[in-house]
Amino acid sequence: MPTRLYSDVQMLDHQPGDGHPERPARLAALLHGLRERPVPGTTWHTAREATEIELGRAHGPGHLRLLRAAEGQTVSLDPDTHTSPDTVQVARLAAGATIQAAESALAGVPAFALVRPPGHHAERDRVMGFCLINNVVAAAEAALATGAVERVLILDWDLHHGNGTQHHFEGREDVLFFSTHRFPFYPGTGALHERGHGAGEGTTINVPLPAGVGDGDLRLALDAVLRPAAERFKPQLVLVSAGFDAYHDDPLGDMRVSVEGFASMCDAALDIARTYAQGRIALTLEGGYNLTGLTDGVRACLEVLEGATPPTVATPGKGERAVMEAIRAHNPRSA
Ligand SMILES: [Zn+2]
Repeated sequence: MPTRLYSDVQMLDHQPGDGHPERPARLAALLHGLRERPVPGTTWHTAREATEIELGRAHGPGHLRLLRAAEGQTVSLDPDTHTSPDTVQVARLAAGATIQAAESALAGVPAFALVRPPGHHAERDRVMGFCLINNVVAAAEAALATGAVERVLILDWDLHHGNGTQHHFEGREDVLFFSTHRFPFYPGTGALHERGHGAGEGTTINVPLPAGVGDGDLRLALDAVLRPAAERFKPQLVLVSAGFDAYHDDPLGDMRVSVEGFASMCDAALDIARTYAQGRIALTLEGGYNLTGLTDGVRACLEVLEGATPPTVATPGKGERAVMEAIRAHNPRSA
């Protein structure tokens, strides 16, 4: 099965300022590496901008007005989030590419949106943490709006908690949001007890983890917390907020995940997609600030989507206790 890659060189034009970790070199390294040495089976597709209707499903009118006002400007919208003249257009491309990836998944073709800026910290009415538009929220909403699916799983394995994604869906039963992340850590949310509310009670699942967590801990979280939740929820589409900042050499993280660990998480996600969602899976890039971890991590995920079997990862380590706590909290049968 071919895997579609959605990206655009225009996404290099978002310049958040000298020394900013979310720098154009991240995507430049990915595009260069995957074009020089392609993963066999992958095909490139040009990103399109998300429409106002698509953005309006993820953000309030005030937020969209703020984005329009920032077009062509160099401004700081948040202590970590700065624009250059092309930033807003680039953010619309990132959201559009993620929507395209979800549409590809719905059509039966796995896809990876290689985008920047990332999206999962963007709240409905607030730019935050390098993120202007919540790409994965826009994609999940677009998929649900087609009527082709009624239940979407969002797996967020970025180092940081996907606060924007959680807050958007935490009152709803049609999206299961599952996040592994370092905690306590930026952005401060993502505690074990945040489980959704109202109709969404139980469809938010957080696995907060201490520093130093590695491959085996994360795989255990996916196998022992996400898998039973997926069995109950039966997702019809799997979207992944794929961040690579839990990599052992990432400047932001202090986690211990290897390239094989990312392959293993992608393998677990693909297996869930195949078991419950007719193989419908799309990934979108979130963080990842060590260029080796980012490029090798994305490549390893693409190889898994193209049929490679990832090596068995190490047994759980520093995070085992935290994962066991999450198992007790989120699995009714073991409670
Ligand atoms: Zn991150």
